[in-house]
Amino acid sequence: MIADQHLHLERGPYTPENYPDAWLDRFLETAANAAVHRLGVVEHAYRFHEARGLLPGPWADARCLYRLDDYVTFVERSKARGLPVSFGLEMDYVPGAEEGIERFLSLYPWDFVHGSVHFVGDVGIDLAEHRAAAAQIGPKRIWERYFALSRNAAESGLFDVLTHPDLPKIFGERADHPLDEEFHMTVTTLRRQGMAIECNTAGLRKPVGEIYPVPAYLAAAFKAGVPVSIGSDAHEPENVGAGFPEGIALLRSVGYGETVHFIGRERFASPLS
Ligand SMILES: [Zn+2]
Ligand SMILES: [Zn+2]
Repeated sequence: MIADQHLHLERGPYTPENYPDAWLDRFLETAANAAVHRLGVVEHAYRFHEARGLLPGPWADARCLYRLDDYVTFVERSKARGLPVSFGLEMDYVPGAEEGIERFLSLYPWDFVHGSVHFVGDVGIDLAEHRAAAAQIGPKRIWERYFALSRNAAESGLFDVLTHPDLPKIFGERADHPLDEEFHMTVTTLRRQGMAIECNTAGLRKPVGEIYPVPAYLAAAFKAGVPVSIGSDAHEPENVGAGFPEGIALLRSVGYGETVHFIGRERFASPLS
């Protein structure tokens, strides 16, 4: 049973007040054709009014346009339809914002919460318009801070899954110093905190052209006993399950035989077939 646990509906043809059922149905149709049996929707938390200020800076401030209630109404309606879909949030981890994040997450009993590091300070490392600012910090420092923030996110105890764990490579700039110790320290923290790591196939559609994380990171996670979820990070229905044959082959190559999904913050494992 394969569960695509990282989907965004935000580019749908909906108004802020209305998520149409038909948009989610299109994700389910692609899933059926891609041999994906279960979905996980995780809208970006920064899109909601109620999360204003949790991710500081003008980039996020310009984006909290939606009411959480409207998403919750859609979630409740979808659950009533009995669909094989878990609903949650992709929440940015920001150091110092833990209390606010906890308060925000408590507004609804989500199935799961992805913990994501997209920002190092106020630099969005996956934003093309922030690349000059990232270059000023320097690649070595970006990588060091990214891993430190990933561990802080895990230590916060707020999240179920650490997403796209080596995102700083998105534009093809790999670290030119060894990362093995960072992998080891981070997966040890995940294991201790009972968190899963994500195999995210969206990297195949980015300039780097490869899955997050690199095989060595995933191998370290498997060796440490960290569960794994798989996600396409699709923002459009046609990308549900995109890159899963490659993702599943990668998981198998490092030793994984199952992936996990979540219902009511409880983790369920299914074999990779
Ligand atoms: Zn993300
Ligand atoms: Zn995402």
